[in-house]
Amino acid sequence: MAELILKPGKERSAMRRHPWIFAGAVAHLKGRARPGDTVEVFADDGRPLGRAAFSPHSQIRARLWTFDADEAVDHAFFKRRIAAAVAARAVLPELHGQPGLRPAGSTLGMRLIHGESDGLPGVIADRYGETVVLQLNSVGAEKWRDAIVAALLPATGCTRVFERSDAEVRGLEGLEARSGSLHGGEPAGPVVIEEHGIRFEVDIRGGHKTGFYLDQRENRFLVRELASGRSVLNCFCYTGGFSLQALAGGASQVLSVDSSGPALEAARRNLALNPQLPAGRAEWRDADVFEELRALKKAGARFDLIILDPPKFAPSPAHAARAARAYKDISLLGFRLLNPGGLLMTYSCSGGIGLELFQKIVAGAAADAGVDARILRRLAAAPDHPVALAFPEGEYLKGLLCQVV
Ligand code: SAH
Repeated sequence: MAELILKPGKERSAMRRHPWIFAGAVAHLKGRARPGDTVEVFADDGRPLGRAAFSPHSQIRARLWTFDADEAVDHAFFKRRIAAAVAARAVLPELHGQPGLRPAGSTLGMRLIHGESDGLPGVIADRYGETVVLQLNSVGAEKWRDAIVAALLPATGCTRVFERSDAEVRGLEGLEARSGSLHGGEPAGPVVIEEHGIRFEVDIRGGHKTGFYLDQRENRFLVRELASGRSVLNCFCYTGGFSLQALAGGASQVLSVDSSGPALEAARRNLALNPQLPAGRAEWRDADVFEELRALKKAGARFDLIILDPPKFAPSPAHAARAARAYKDISLLGFRLLNPGGLLMTYSCSGGIGLELFQKIVAGAAADAGVDARILRRLAAAPDHPVALAFPEGEYLKGLLCQVV
């Protein structure tokens, strides 16, 4: 095995069990390693730090698989880590009332492996019923594809593994997009999951991320609890996740806006999948949210609950300033459209914008909108998307539930 030797002092982050080793921390590589090969990592003074996947093309030059210098990275390693990630989720409250982790006929949708925070850098696995959708985002993960698939099948009891390795970050690792069946063939039709008793079809082949925004599951339940008797505006509705839960919670009307025609068509199909919901209270609008919010204001519209769940405006810290303006813009318009006592649920899923900054942005928006607002709740991703304490970068989704006075 090749040896990656760090510069003096640069071992500190690995000592705190942070899995990334940046190019600037590396003194030299002793021996030869190809992309994805496992290397032994050493501090400048010779202390062993663990074993990592070598990534010569990325600024993240290596990702530590293990902080135990004696632990082999092999098929058995992936079996252990994946079984542990799946088992850890059995304690989560959202599994109550679900048929456990048994897949036969299951409509469970949840994240099973959340990359670095599950000790598997670059590996994302989401389960939709009996299908696992796998996303490999690093050369290390790429190298162990077969071992990961072989371990996922017995750990989950699922019958299919479908790959959706088409995230942009793969480019940084020198990898091309890849997708297709890895085991069990393609599902015959759309995969249907059930969330809080509401059915959604998930497009595992072409949907965003692995097909669905599983990270918002708990927050969608909160919307359901808040919706009773309220008029709701759901901006960036995608396939209708928040909209359908609002209807289920008794909203008086739900206006949903998105600029993607196919997403809105899927949202309409999802509504039809749930005939118990009052479809007459739902309206879908194909529009740009920035323009639509202004048009609604002009038309004198008002709502009791507004949800703003936009796409990632800041894919990296370099985009933070422009993204901050966009978050502020929509939050400001949202505040202006609220009835007295109304609720604004506003999110950022940009890693480059932390909670503290996001709160400042929203505070600025309220000030410019001329409203008094307060935070009722701070919101985050559901706990099947855990954040390892050693890896705060894992905390990408943050939201605020605000009430105007
Ligand atoms: N809240 C959704 C996920 C939102 S994803 C859920 O819980 O499932 C972000 C969505 O924003 C995508 O559907 C995308 O089509 C839409 N979008 C991006 N930019 C937009 C814009 N300027 N106006 C309207 N919709 C936009």
